[in-house]
Amino acid sequence: MKIAIAGAGALGSRFGFMLQQAGNDVTLIDGWKDHVEAIRRNGLNVTINDKTFNVKIPTKYPSEVTADMKMDLIIVFTKSMQLDDMLQNIQAIITDQTSILCLLNGIGHEDIIEKYASKQNIFLGNTMWTASLVGPGHTQSFGDGSISLQNLVDGHASEAKYLAACLSEAGLNAEYTDNIHYSIYRKACVNGTMNGLCTLLDADMAAVGATRMAHKIVTTIVNEFAAVAKHENIDLDTNEIIEHVESCYDPKTIGHHYPSMHQDLIKNHRYTEIDYINGAISRKGQKYGIATPYCDFLTELIHCKEDIVLKN
Ligand code: NAD
Repeated sequence: MKIAIAGAGALGSRFGFMLQQAGNDVTLIDGWKDHVEAIRRNGLNVTINDKTFNVKIPTKYPSEVTADMKMDLIIVFTKSMQLDDMLQNIQAIITDQTSILCLLNGIGHEDIIEKYASKQNIFLGNTMWTASLVGPGHTQSFGDGSISLQNLVDGHASEAKYLAACLSEAGLNAEYTDNIHYSIYRKACVNGTMNGLCTLLDADMAAVGATRMAHKIVTTIVNEFAAVAKHENIDLDTNEIIEHVESCYDPKTIGHHYPSMHQDLIKNHRYTEIDYINGAISRKGQKYGIATPYCDFLTELIHCKEDIVLKN
């Protein structure tokens, strides 16, 4: 399959590597100059569980993509707030034969992708794979992961199943689900609680979970997500989701992990995806006439923190 990874950072590079190893014709597309030049010069380094692979992999800037590069599949892997810009710059390779798969964290990315591709070619999912960048040209990850995905509109489940099979052939452990919007909201509840709190409090998940107010805050935020989801005919099991969020506190499993938003803002001084997590709930709440005060406030506080960290 001819596959482009649009946004070949931490996770995109890892996916590109695995898909190429399985025999696909993979092209990485990225706008970060040091990263692109390092891959072109020295190959892509991929460290998986302490073993490092070095591979040659075609890598383009968005400005270099041309219509003759026709892709069967584009997997988008920018951060949420970068997605629109990326798609706008690679329009030349999006044809009516091109499937687009979005595994970004957060809610509502289909609204952006629909501006550039027909709904029947859009596939949404989420992933439990993780990765981080060591530096330009080098991605690192530990452990295994999985992917759930579904077609955006009815009548295209067979294409979604085919896509899942191709990804699984590359060891990405993908499965088709008939309820992806539920899974996306469920994962967004984890991000919508742990990401913002760990970032603002500068603490890992175990430490946040041990605070007196954690249960109240998590419960309130999950209930705000559920009230919004209900307006979209998605009935979240809030008790199960709160338990799921609170299971992240366990220091014997992932409790000592700092979520990606903390890594983005506090460690790497980059803008966060808050507008596509709690911010998305605030916008939808406003549209549906539902009050979402905790999501509103958390979004505003993260923007304040961005101002403090990024403008100094
Ligand atoms: P990342 O920042 O490492 O990678 C994004 C890449 O996109 C960067 O290399 C950047 O240069 C490139 N890019 C962004 N905008 C661009 C543009 N307009 N033109 C060209 N290149 C552009 O991000 P990541 O950690 O790989 O995460 C990607 C997405 O996957 C996010 O939504 C994240 O929440 C989600 N996710 C990440 C992980 C993880 O472990 N890293 C796990 C699950 C989900």
